[in-house]
Formats: sequence, structure tokens, C-alpha cells
Amino acid sequence: MSSKITECELEQRLLAVAEERRHGFLQTLQQLDAALATALQQLPADEWPDYSPLSAWPQLQPQLNALKQVDAALCQWRLGLYGLCSDCEAELTPEQLLQDPCRQRCDPCEQKHNKAQHVSWQL
Ligand SMILES: [Zn+2]
Repeated sequence: MSSKITECELEQRLLAVAEERRHGFLQTLQQLDAALATALQQLPADEWPDYSPLSAWPQLQPQLNALKQVDAALCQWRLGLYGLCSDCEAELTPEQLLQDPCRQRCDPCEQKHNKAQHVSWQL
């Protein structure tokens, strides 16, 4: 890699985004159901998206999806697969990852993916 962005910086950024999203999620939940927020804090953060009482709050879905993305990225990091496109396994650039640490696809695959989603919405 010819870039000046180091792996260490990328890891810091990924962990910061994970922390930020989890914190934001807890704050939102606290306003909806403080007891549930307290219960959730007893669980490891990577189990939050699967915690079934949360399904009582459909408005939390977008934030839960964001947490899942973060968990997936952290998992890839541990496996040494971080920064690979999930469709074609091309290496994402450090610049792309710094901008969006949870990015899963390279540009061409992202475009294909968005197009596919767009088509299914029209059906
Ligand atoms: Zn790709």
C-alpha cells in the first residue's frame, strides 16, 4: 500500500465508529425504554442486534442495522479480512475505509448492489 494511512489509524477509526454507534443507540433506547437499555448494557455489544425484546421498537431498525455493519467490520478485522470487497474481494483503499470504516463493497460492486436494490423496490 502506497498510502500514508496506517492500519493502526484504520483500526482506531473503526473502533471509534463502533463506540459512537453503540453509544448513540443506547441513548435512543434510554428515551424509549430505560429498563431495556440497562438490560442491554449487561450484554456484549455484538449481541445487541439479536436481542429479541428490541423488535418491539421498529424505529430502532436503522440503528440496529448500523450496529450490525460495525460488528461485521470488527469481525472481518479480527479475521484479517478487513477492507476486502464482500462481493469480488478487491482491496478497498485506506481512503475509502477511513471515510466509511464499515464499507463492504468496492465502487463497481456498490453500484451493482444499489441498482439491484433499486430494481427490487420497483417491483
Ligand atoms: Zn467488489
